[in-house]
Amino acid sequence: MKSLIFFSFIFFGINLYAQVNFDDFFFDKSMRLDYTIGGTGNETTVYFNKLKEEPFWGGSKKNLIDKFNFGYYRILVFDSAGTKLIYSRGFSDLYVEWKDTEEAKQTSRSFYESVQIPFPKNDIVIKIEMRDKQNVFNTVFEIPINPGSVSIIKDKQTKYKIQKLQNNGDSHNKLDIVIIPDGYTESELEKFHADCNRFISYFFEVEPFKTYRNNVNFWAVDAFSEESGTDIPTQNIWKNTVLNTHFNTFGHERYLTTQDIETVRNLAAYVPYDQIYILVNTEKYGGGGIYNCYNLCSADNEYSGRVFTHEFGHAFAALADEYEYGYGKAEDLYDMSVEPWQVNITNLVDFDSKWKKSVDKNTPVPTPDTPKFAEKLGAFEGAGYVKKGIYRPMHDCKMRSNSNDKFCPVCYKTVLEMLLFYSE
Ligand SMILES: [Zn+2]
Repeated sequence: MKSLIFFSFIFFGINLYAQVNFDDFFFDKSMRLDYTIGGTGNETTVYFNKLKEEPFWGGSKKNLIDKFNFGYYRILVFDSAGTKLIYSRGFSDLYVEWKDTEEAKQTSRSFYESVQIPFPKNDIVIKIEMRDKQNVFNTVFEIPINPGSVSIIKDKQTKYKIQKLQNNGDSHNKLDIVIIPDGYTESELEKFHADCNRFISYFFEVEPFKTYRNNVNFWAVDAFSEESGTDIPTQNIWKNTVLNTHFNTFGHERYLTTQDIETVRNLAAYVPYDQIYILVNTEKYGGGGIYNCYNLCSADNEYSGRVFTHEFGHAFAALADEYEYGYGKAEDLYDMSVEPWQVNITNLVDFDSKWKKSVDKNTPVPTPDTPKFAEKLGAFEGAGYVKKGIYRPMHDCKMRSNSNDKFCPVCYKTVLEMLLFYSE
């Protein structure tokens, strides 16, 4: 029995990380799985909505199996026998954030979600797994799919024009970022293009994007809105916009998101993409970034240039916020018996699994937040929205404040590894 368990472990291990040959399993286009996820703070149910064929696959053809293990969820795609893993990716969503709100203690709620995979040649099985508080993945959804089924929707989107703003070549080995406008009217599209170019230059001022500029493509979809601006519920401002973005998500004034994931995905599908960036036509400070889901940033705030790459740290590399915010106790947000899964925060339960080996032996851990250690890598208390018990790698980082336009070494390394994963 013991040897059988050992054998299964090895077998499963190989399955999880060995890359597969794209052309054996996939066509060069994509399939989208849309579903509704809902529940209460304690339980989760997923309901299938639809499958859609989309014209482009913007992802890597080489790195089909996720090696990062980031995100609150992962999608696993198996061959028809259900034994060979042929695609996987970690991701997060708004639902998992909602589960920590006061509302989740009183009611149930559902959210529309969507994931994109390369279009399979043969029958597949898709599983969606969700982490529990101890970081163990449990299956919350499973569906067998016949790619020849007539129920797969094949509508083509043609209403809007597209722009290739930064062209460095074949999307399969570039990181492709699609910018979608929200709250720009048709007559404001010129402003949208100028805003895009301004943000692209902000983006390439930050390392590692500056050095690896040639690994990145930028696209824009000219989707205009009925009205200019966005919803600001606390000021009773409501705008009819193409992506229905709004501030005050879960009661956080500056948290800018949209729950209209279906429209977001429909518009992104005009081009090959790895990351979706929603640029919101407002001066109000704010943004949002959800891992492998979407990024949002307001276009005209004085800090927007810095917010743009901060949010990208969340949505692209699953980085945690390194600041404190409102929550008193770490126990309210984290299971303190295991390390948080985010690469740039630690509760020191297993610091070896994080960045301990990069910390100078003369730097104490925890590290005093004093001028002496301001430029040192260490473990500084106060991160991940709490003051006590969660530690960050440096005094300051792009994931902590806008006074710094640099990623700390831990965040930098993760962003670079992710960039290379998408552009190999
Ligand atoms: Zn950092």
